[in-house]
Amino acid sequence: MSRTRQHDSRQRELQHLKRRIDALQREARELSDRIGSMGADRRCKQYAVVDSLMCTGCGLCERVCPAGAITVTRVAQVDRERCTGCGLCAANCPEHAIGLQGT
Ligand code: SF4
Ligand code: SF4
Repeated sequence: MSRTRQHDSRQRELQHLKRRIDALQREARELSDRIGSMGADRRCKQYAVVDSLMCTGCGLCERVCPAGAITVTRVAQVDRERCTGCGLCAANCPEHAIGLQGT
């Protein structure tokens, strides 16, 4: 391959790499925006709330919670930081003592 052709080939490769870098930077910006909006979603999420007058302390919600967000002593208590708002506890509570609330 002549020097000129080698040079042209290098230039094309460089242009290609620059376009790839631009595309990756765009992708990184989009991902960063999405992560930012997920953070906003998390701040607005729902969480479980227990009506302590209705709760019998049976412990079912503690067993079904996939996030380990419920502790039952006398009645169930929800750790809002852990709760993902999935609603499994509310769906399984035999006393209908759990509801979901938004923050
Ligand atoms: S399942 Fe319902 S009644 Fe049982 S501990 Fe949980 S909130 Fe209370
Ligand atoms: S809503 Fe889901 S994550 Fe939150 S306490 Fe109930 S079962 Fe656990």
